[in-house]
Amino acid sequence: RQERISLLGLGSMGRALAGALIGAGHEVTVWNRTPGKAGELVARGAREVSSVEEAVQAGGLVVVCLLDDASVREALAPVVRGLTGRDLVNLTSGSVQQARELAGWLGGRGVRFLGGGIMAVPSTVGTEGAFILYSGARDLFDRVAPVLSPIGRPQWAGEDPGFAALYDMAALSGMYGMSAGADHAVTMLHAEGGDLETFKRAVLGPWMEQMLPIIVAGADPSATVPEEYNPGMQAVGLETILAASGEAGVPAELSGHLRASLWRMRRAVDAG
Ligand code: NDP
Repeated sequence: RQERISLLGLGSMGRALAGALIGAGHEVTVWNRTPGKAGELVARGAREVSSVEEAVQAGGLVVVCLLDDASVREALAPVVRGLTGRDLVNLTSGSVQQARELAGWLGGRGVRFLGGGIMAVPSTVGTEGAFILYSGARDLFDRVAPVLSPIGRPQWAGEDPGFAALYDMAALSGMYGMSAGADHAVTMLHAEGGDLETFKRAVLGPWMEQMLPIIVAGADPSATVPEEYNPGMQAVGLETILAASGEAGVPAELSGHLRASLWRMRRAVDAG
């Protein structure tokens, strides 16, 4: 179904979202604080406006993708009265509390609201693996999920408007944990003269592939640790990795993830 959509924000992500929505045949109006970013989108059929007010006046679903919560507040404050009775989806990353407060602020003015979490990067928007978390007004989700599906598979996260942000932040925490592990690994590898290409292709890649399902399944501090990964053994193993890291002269700032795991294993040992 074709829908009128006003998109606020044409950063890397906003442009990718606009492209996918135009590609699906929606009637897209775009606004960006700094003009000049809509050229290609306009060539593909988008209408560019020079104020948030005009974007809201276009009348359809309002989708927001700005830098952070403060920029969303700043952009919406002057037009919030005009949003009464309208539908708004915020795809800007923010904290759980910020999403709840934004929902309260807009809900108090009669705006139907969904908070979102984009589980994609600009180059994967609209591709098979991309998914978008939504939380807040369930009836609005049911209505707009098919409309917004061209940007990524819509996934319901719950009626608490902060839950899309919660699952998004928590998933990013997992991602940055892995990324911190990879940074540490590569620094240690360089320091000791290892071959990075071999390591990535023949060791880190296959190892992460093997371990990822086990890590995800085990992401529960209250779960019983199977005997084969007994925490006493893991605590000793982590102390060895930290010692190897120290020998290689890796800065302590890069090994925080190892100390976090060591702390968790020692707690498990203490708890029996
Ligand atoms: P960019 O830095 O590319 O763009 C930021 C956008 O926010 C620009 O349109 C900028 O406008 C606008 N902006 C910043 N401050 C204000 C303000 N005070 N008032 C109005 N507009 C403002 O970021 P992205 O597009 O990459 O990211 C947008 C959102 O999407 C972020 O919340 C990000 O966390 C999220 N996201 C991004 C991903 C990515 O990989 N890029 C992945 C998943 C989520 P101007 O051009 O005028 O500066």
